[in-house]
Amino acid sequence: MAEAFLPPGGTLPGAEGEGGVPVAGPVSDLVAGMSPRTRTLVRAGLRACEWSTFPRRFSRLPRERRAARLGKMAAGGRLRRDLFLLLKTLSCIAYARDPGVQAALGVTSGCSRANGAAPDPPPAPRLEPEALVPPDGVERCDVVVVGSGAGGASAARALAERGLDVVVVEEGGYHDARDYETDPLAALPMLYRDGGLTFAEGRPTIPVPIGRCVGGTTVINSGTCFRAPDEVLARWRDEFGIPWAAELDAEFAAVERDLRVAPVDPATAGRNAAVCREGADALGVSHGPILRNAGDVVCCGSCPTGCRIDAKQAAHVGELPRAAAAGARVRAGARVTRVLVENGRAVGVRCRVEGRDEPYEIRARAVVLAAGAFGTPRLLLRTGATRRAKAVGRHLRIHPACWVGARFDEPVRGWDGVMQSWYVDEWQDRGLFLEATFTPLPFSAHWLPGVGEELKSGIERFENLGVIGVHLSERSEGRVQSSGRVTYRLRDDDARELVYGIARAADLLFAAGAVEVYPQIHGVPRLAPGEQTALADGQFGPGDLRLEAFHPLGTARMGSDAAEAVVAPSGETHDLPGLWVADASLMPTSLKVNPMVTVMACARHVAGELAARLS
Ligand SMILES: Cc1cc2nc3c(=O)[nH]c(=O)nc-3n(C[C@H](O)[C@H](O)[C@H](O)COP(=O)(O)OP(=O)(O)OC[C@H]3O[C@@H](n4cnc5c(N)ncnc54)[C@H](O)[C@@H]3O)c2cc1C
Repeated sequence: MAEAFLPPGGTLPGAEGEGGVPVAGPVSDLVAGMSPRTRTLVRAGLRACEWSTFPRRFSRLPRERRAARLGKMAAGGRLRRDLFLLLKTLSCIAYARDPGVQAALGVTSGCSRANGAAPDPPPAPRLEPEALVPPDGVERCDVVVVGSGAGGASAARALAERGLDVVVVEEGGYHDARDYETDPLAALPMLYRDGGLTFAEGRPTIPVPIGRCVGGTTVINSGTCFRAPDEVLARWRDEFGIPWAAELDAEFAAVERDLRVAPVDPATAGRNAAVCREGADALGVSHGPILRNAGDVVCCGSCPTGCRIDAKQAAHVGELPRAAAAGARVRAGARVTRVLVENGRAVGVRCRVEGRDEPYEIRARAVVLAAGAFGTPRLLLRTGATRRAKAVGRHLRIHPACWVGARFDEPVRGWDGVMQSWYVDEWQDRGLFLEATFTPLPFSAHWLPGVGEELKSGIERFENLGVIGVHLSERSEGRVQSSGRVTYRLRDDDARELVYGIARAADLLFAAGAVEVYPQIHGVPRLAPGEQTALADGQFGPGDLRLEAFHPLGTARMGSDAAEAVVAPSGETHDLPGLWVADASLMPTSLKVNPMVTVMACARHVAGELAARLS
C-alpha cells in the first residue's frame, strides 16, 4: 500500500522496496501500541482493502494496479474514503518523517528569537513526577485533581496557592525538552492518547487528537492564546445562568501574564503568515497577528511533538511547577478508573498504575475532574451518581477544521517561521475563524491530493506550499460514551458554512498569488483561480468534507438548570456533592476561538469557588 501511495521515481525515494523509505514496519509498530479498539478498526480496514480486489489479493497486484485501486477507494463511498484517508495518513507520516526525504526537500528545523539570536536553553525542569504508591495503597489530601492539562494544572495551582493539600493524577508520563522524540512515530505514542488516532465517528469521521502526558494537550498544542469573545461569555451568563462568565477579565489577565502571551512579530512570522496577511490586505478583510505563549521565539514547527526548547508555556513548564512550588504533588502514569462515592458524596478516586495489580486510592475532601472533554464524561458516566444528568457526555463540540493548502510559484518555506501565526476574523459572526497554520511535513503530506506520482510530486513541491486552517464554531453536536467511543454528526448547515469558509480561505490564498488550492472536498481535489466562487452553492454535504478537529469541549456542560447541565455555575456537579469539574468539558457553547486560555481562566475561577467552600 505504501509503495502504491509513494512509488519510486522523481527526486525523492519511494516507500519500501530497494533504497526506499521503510513505512510498513514503523506503521505496524505504531498501531501495535494503540488501544484494542483502534487496532481492531485498522486491522478490519486492512483486511477489507486486501480482499476488495477479490478473487486476487490487493497485496499481490502490480504496483500500478494497487495505486489505481487506492484511487478508486478515494472516489468511493464514505466508509471506503475514511479507510483510504486513514491508510494515506499513516503511510505519509511514516514516509515524510524520514530524514533523507526532509533533507532532499531542504526542510530544516531550528528555533531563533525575533532578533535572530539563539533562544535560551530549555528551563531546568522543576517537576519530576512519577506514580508513588504508598505502602498501604491509600494517599490522602484535601483535593485530588484528575488530569494535568490546561484545566487541571490551572486548578491545581490555584488550589495549592490557597493553602490546600493537592494531588494531581495524570495517566500519561512526564516528558520535557530533555526527551521529546523528534521522530513523530515515536512522539505520537509518547505524548498523544492512542498514538494520535482518536476520532469522532460519523459522517465524515473526524480525527480529534488529544494529549496524554503530564501537561495534557498543552504539551502538543500550537500555543495560540485567545480569550473567548465577550458575546460568547455574555451568552453563558444570560442563557446558561453562569453569573461570573462575563466577569473573567482578571482571570484572563492573570493567565496571559503567566503564559507570557504576546502577538507574533510580522517581521519574523515567516512567509506563510505573510501569505495570509497579504491575501487579507488585498481583499480588505479584518486580520491580525496571532497571540502566542512562546514569547519572541520563532518556532521550528515542533509544537505538535513537544517544543524542543520548552519555550511554549505548556502546563508542565508553567502551571504545574507553580502548583508544585505551592506544595501540590503531581503523580504521573496513574489512570483514574472511577470516582469513589460514600454516603452520597465524592470522597476520592481509584487509580491503576501500570505494572501493579492492586488499585491505588487517593482519598480527598473534594475531587476535581479535569481529564479533558473525552476523559471527564467517561469518568462521570462510570460514577453512577451522575448518570441522572442526561447531558453527561452529550453536547460535544469539536470546532471542526479544514486544512486548506495552496501551491505558489515561489517558495513559501512555511517551516521557516511561526507554525500558527496569522488570523482572519472577518467572518467570525458566522462562526468562522481562519488561521495560517503550517504543520510539519509528516503532518501535512497526507493532505496533498492524489496517490502515486501525483502525491509524490505534491510532496516534492512542499517548499511552495502555503496553508490556512478554517475553523467553524458549529451548531452540530457529538457524544462521548462510557466505552470511550466518540460519535459526532455534522449538520448540513454547518457543512455549508465550512464550504463557505474554505472558499474564503481560497480567496485569501489566490489573492496572495497561489496558483492552485486544495480544498479537501470530495470530487474537488484542486481549484484554479476563480473556481472557488462556484463552491458555496450548497452542492456539498457533510460526507463530502475532509476535516480534522483540535478543540473538543462541552461534554459536562455548566449551567444553572440541573435538567440541562451537568455542572452548576460553582463548578460542582449538580448531582454529586464533592465532585467538581475544571476543564474543557465545562464549556456550554462553542467559543469561536482556540480554547486553552478560556479553559484556564474558568478552571482558576472554579478552583477559587472550591477553595472558598473548603475553607
Ligand atoms: C494539535 C493541537 C493543537 C492545539 N492548539 C491549540 C492552540 O494553539 N490554542 C488553544 O487554545 N488550544 C489548542 N488546542 C486545544 C487545547 O490544548 C485544549 O483545548 C486544552 O488543552 C484542553 O484542556 P483540558 O484540561 O480540558 O484537557 P487536556 O489538556 O487534554 O488535559 C487532560 C488530561 O487528562 C488526562 N486524563 C484523561 N483521562 C484520565 C484518567 N482517567 N486518569 C488520569 N488522567 C487522565 C489526559 O491524559 C490529559 O493529560 C490544541 C489541541 C491540539 C490537539
